[in-house]
Amino acid sequence: MSKEFIPVARPLIGSAERGAVDAVLRSGMLAQGREVASFEQEFGRDLLDGRAAVAVNSGTSALHLGLLAAGVGPGDEVVVPSFTFAATANAVALTGATPVFADIRREAYGIDPAHVATLIGERTRGIMPVHLYGHPADMAGLGWLAEQHGLDLYEDAAQAHGASLHGQLVGTFGRFAAFSLYPTKNMTSGEGGMVATGDAELARTVQLLRNQGMATQYANEIVGFNARMTDVHAAIGRVQLADLPERTEARRANAQFFDTNLTGVGLPAVADGVVHVYHQYTITIPEGRDGFAAALREEYAIGAGVYYPTPVHRLPAFSRDAELPNTEWAKDRVLSLPVHPALDDEDRERIVNAVNALAGAGA
Ligand SMILES: *Cc1c(COP(=O)(O)O)cnc(C)c1O
Repeated sequence: MSKEFIPVARPLIGSAERGAVDAVLRSGMLAQGREVASFEQEFGRDLLDGRAAVAVNSGTSALHLGLLAAGVGPGDEVVVPSFTFAATANAVALTGATPVFADIRREAYGIDPAHVATLIGERTRGIMPVHLYGHPADMAGLGWLAEQHGLDLYEDAAQAHGASLHGQLVGTFGRFAAFSLYPTKNMTSGEGGMVATGDAELARTVQLLRNQGMATQYANEIVGFNARMTDVHAAIGRVQLADLPERTEARRANAQFFDTNLTGVGLPAVADGVVHVYHQYTITIPEGRDGFAAALREEYAIGAGVYYPTPVHRLPAFSRDAELPNTEWAKDRVLSLPVHPALDDEDRERIVNAVNALAGAGA
């Protein structure tokens, strides 16, 4: 048995990306330009059912600028899950608004609309679900709630490029959605993000905010950032976007192999009508998760990740009191196995054999 280490994530960069970057470098036009415009157009066409995409320099900027463009600011509250990456709540806090932390459901780890309902008050402006691990949140339940209370939905789709719910792509439900293009995500531009929206005014405001508030050079309309994507990054992203369908299929095939062959651990649930894109394949270990992960790494040379070990509301940056029992349940049990498209048949066998052996040993 080969003992080459299998990492939990591995970006796939090939000669097509290198060629595309080289062409941009040779052109001498490096900053936001034609490559970015083409990338936006293709991203909207392929992943957003024709909605507008506005490219920025990170997923965090996509969340932050999207919220600002939606008018979120001081005095507002936005309900977010605590079981997520801190960027979700950081983006809300950076607008001057207050993130309010909701619990998740144990199945598929999405924000729980029933708990969200108990947190809605006078100041609530919107709800920001996260399509965690590549599984869409319960957009029907949240949509109903948003409509009842006159709230906006903002989607954190950082982990869910191409996922869908009853045939509707994530990124097309909310007032806006934010995608990340970080190297470990389902597709990458190096660093980068996309704001997706069906609201032309919001799209224009994000375009202004990313570029010092300018649509025309030196005619600054509002106060803005430099959050532009470069043509170098867009060139990588365009190649990755073209390869995404094949890579998503590889992730789904790996997940199906695990679903069929893993024993003795909790398997990821998939809700009705969901196309899961498996940013992570996340099992649950009822007891001794950390020892299990250490044994996978040390005895079997298999990387596995805990996303995320500390609920965001308890991080020093937020330090909020909240009773979120399903969040606490999940953070002690989740373990994400390598599911990325760089796995070969031997890797998948090794992962199954190792997990089944450790689960059988009661590790
Ligand atoms: C990665 C991620 C982000 C932030 O994206 P960056 O591109 O790293 O800034 C936000 N939310 C979630 C859920 C993420 O996984």
